[in-house]
Amino acid sequence: MVKTDLHTDSLLAHGGGGFDAATGAVVPPIQTATTFVRDENYDLVSGNHLYSRDDNDLFRKTEGLIAHLEGAADSRLFASGMAAIAAIMRTVKPGGTILLQSDIYWGTTLFFRKNCERTNIALIEVDASDLSVLKDTIETAQPNLIFLEVPSNPFLAVVDIAAVAKLAELTGSTVCVDATAATPLIMKPLSKGADLVVHSATKALNGHSDVLGGVVSTASADTEAWQFICAERHDAGAVMGSFETWLLLRGLRTLSLRVERMNANAQALAKHFAAHPKIAEVLYPGLETHKAHELASNQMSGGYGSLMSLIMKGSREDALKVTAALNLFQRATSLGGVESLVEHRETIEGPDSGIPDTLLRLSIGIEHIDDLIGDLEQALNTV
Ligand SMILES: *Cc1c(COP(=O)(O)O)cnc(C)c1O
Repeated sequence: MVKTDLHTDSLLAHGGGGFDAATGAVVPPIQTATTFVRDENYDLVSGNHLYSRDDNDLFRKTEGLIAHLEGAADSRLFASGMAAIAAIMRTVKPGGTILLQSDIYWGTTLFFRKNCERTNIALIEVDASDLSVLKDTIETAQPNLIFLEVPSNPFLAVVDIAAVAKLAELTGSTVCVDATAATPLIMKPLSKGADLVVHSATKALNGHSDVLGGVVSTASADTEAWQFICAERHDAGAVMGSFETWLLLRGLRTLSLRVERMNANAQALAKHFAAHPKIAEVLYPGLETHKAHELASNQMSGGYGSLMSLIMKGSREDALKVTAALNLFQRATSLGGVESLVEHRETIEGPDSGIPDTLLRLSIGIEHIDDLIGDLEQALNTV
């Protein structure tokens, strides 16, 4: 773990600090070897290097930096966000119980549904923003794992992590928060009492829409769940590639700049369109009208993220017409990249997903705010 009294921005700019001892290079080299030699006595030439599914220097450096950002005891990179979430789900044994926040990232919901059924794990999906329902459910079901997503995608629901962590103490449940939409710069779930935090590093951590990755961080390195997750990455082999890890570490160097701009753009855009005649509602925790604005303000600092959804007035066709008319926003899934994206989520997830067919999800990038507002304004004028 990185030990430093520097500000996070400085540490990020230096990619976690330090330089390559062999060459003095200011950026670390990419280790491409999958296997490492032993000497005549059959000892490893380098104790830390045996086979590349175990670990490597770039993993350790990048994980150390992310652990520092999260205030975590330890972190592990995975091949994707879903690979990380899968390892977390598998901490629960057959016969166990998982409590899953409802209306979150559809890929997560589907994965839990399919795999809980296959492995005889009871899955309870619950609106985690309703604390009284949650309390009853935790008390009666005694879940092994409580999985939250804050803020949620695409509804931007904000759950009180500290309150859930407190409830979970009574039953000894592991609390995990998917904080992808927030980034560790503006929300640190471990400091609110969560046991684990997971990110799709594909999103803002890398930030350039060119790497698939995931990362799990833990409050304590001694727990059974954490030991399992570390072993599972090695044994099941969902490791990140060296090139991807190198790109992620490069992306992290500009994380604080990107997050600052994206959050500022998102806040300005949400405010600008909050009362637009063609829009029924802007879902964004930074708006005072958001039902959990106060909670979000206490739980996050330095912004409210770059993800938002617009609920359009009119029909599904109108919503699709607006997306078709956008020139700067690209019509694509995913979030957290430097380029702004728009998605008609119901088309992707299908009518069973419960996503309103007038919902447009926006991921706000680092473009000039006037260009973003102008593009959305002209697109709205087409309906
Ligand atoms: C994208 C995403 C995931 C899945 O991550 P991948 O890297 O695509 O596997 C999980 N949770 C949230 C909130 C996401 O946005």
